[in-house]
Amino acid sequence: MSDVRKCLDAFKEVATSPRKQLDKVLAEGKKAIGVIPYYAPEEIAYAAGMIPFGMWGAEVQVTESKKYFPAFYCSIVHACLDLAIKGAYKGLSAVMIPLTCDSLKGMGANWQYGVKDIPVIDVAYAQNRKILGGIDFTTSQFKKIRNQLQEVAGVLISDKAVAEAIKVYDENRAVCLEFTKLVAKHSQTVSVTDRAYVLKARYFMDRKEHTEWVKALNGMLAALPEEAVKGKKIVTTGIMADTAELLKILDDFGFTIVADQITHESVDLRQETPADFDPFRAMALRLAHIEGTSVLFEPEKLRGKQLVEIAKEAGADGVLWVNTKFCDPEEFDYVPCKKALDEADIPNLQIEVDQQMVNYEQIRTALETFRDIL
Ligand code: SF4
Repeated sequence: MSDVRKCLDAFKEVATSPRKQLDKVLAEGKKAIGVIPYYAPEEIAYAAGMIPFGMWGAEVQVTESKKYFPAFYCSIVHACLDLAIKGAYKGLSAVMIPLTCDSLKGMGANWQYGVKDIPVIDVAYAQNRKILGGIDFTTSQFKKIRNQLQEVAGVLISDKAVAEAIKVYDENRAVCLEFTKLVAKHSQTVSVTDRAYVLKARYFMDRKEHTEWVKALNGMLAALPEEAVKGKKIVTTGIMADTAELLKILDDFGFTIVADQITHESVDLRQETPADFDPFRAMALRLAHIEGTSVLFEPEKLRGKQLVEIAKEAGADGVLWVNTKFCDPEEFDYVPCKKALDEADIPNLQIEVDQQMVNYEQIRTALETFRDIL
C-alpha cells in the first residue's frame, strides 16, 4: 500500500470514528468542548488547553430528538441532540451552541432540558456582522464566552494564548485549502470520499496534529506527477456534502471536486483571521469577512458571484448545489445563486440530502444525467 493511501486511510479512521477520538482526548487527561455549527469561537477553548470537538450531526436514525423537534426538522440539529441524549458525547465539558438559524435557536433550551450532564454555552454574534457596531457586539460576546470557558477549563485564558490559538487555526485552514487544490490535480489518487474524510477529520483532532498530517499528505501529493482529471469537474456548494452514499455516487460517476463552497469545508478555510491588537476583535473581523455561506447575514447576496468566480477559476464543468433538507437559509440563497450561475452559463444541479436519508436512487439518477449532460 502506498504512503499516500496509508495517510488517507488514517484520516478516514478519524473521520469515521469520532467517539474513539473523543475517548483518546479524554484518556490523555484533556478536556473537550463540543462545538455545534456555525463559527463558534473555538480558538478560545483551544487557548485554554481544551480540544474543540466538532458536532455536525451523523448518519443515524433519530428517535429521542423527535420528542423535542418535529420529525421534518433540520437533520443536523436532530442528529446532534439525539446523539447527545443517548450519551454519544459523554465526557464533553460543555457545548457551544451558536444561535445562527431558526433551527438552532431552539437547540440550547432543548439541550439543557434533555442533556443534563453537558452544560451549554450560547454563542451569539451580530447579524449585521460587518458594521462597526456589529463587530463590537461580536467582540463583546466572544469575551463573555472567554469568561464562561475559563470556568469550564479552570484556568485563565490570556489574550496571548488566544492569539496563539488563532495562529494554529489559521495555519490549519491554509494547509487544508492547499490540500483541496492538490486534490484537483490528483483526482485519480484522492477520491471524492478521501477528500471529504481529510477535511472532516479536522473537527475531531487537535488542529496542530491535523495540520501536521495534512502537511505530510500535501508533501506527498505535490511530489507526484500531475494526473489527468478523472471525469467531470464540479464545484460543490451547500452546508455539508459528506453523507457516505452521496460521496460514493460522486465517485462511482467519476466526478472530481475541483473546489467547493461548502460551509463545512472550504468556506471556513478561505478566510484567515485579520491582524488586530485584540484577538477577540480579530475573530469578530474574521466572521465579518466570511463569504459564501447562507448561515451568515449577507444583504448583498454575494454568494452567487463568489460561486461563479470559484467555478470559473477552477475550470469546473458544472456546479452541484447540495441542499440540506429543511434548511431555509439555503433555500433562500438558492434562487439568486442559480440566477448568477445561469447568467454565467455554468450548468448546475440541485439535489436535496439529509443525514437520515436511506434511499439515494433519485439522486443517483439525477447525478448520472448531470454527468451525461456535462
Ligand atoms: S442545516 Fe440549515 S437549518 Fe440546519 S442548522 Fe444548518 S443552517 Fe440551520
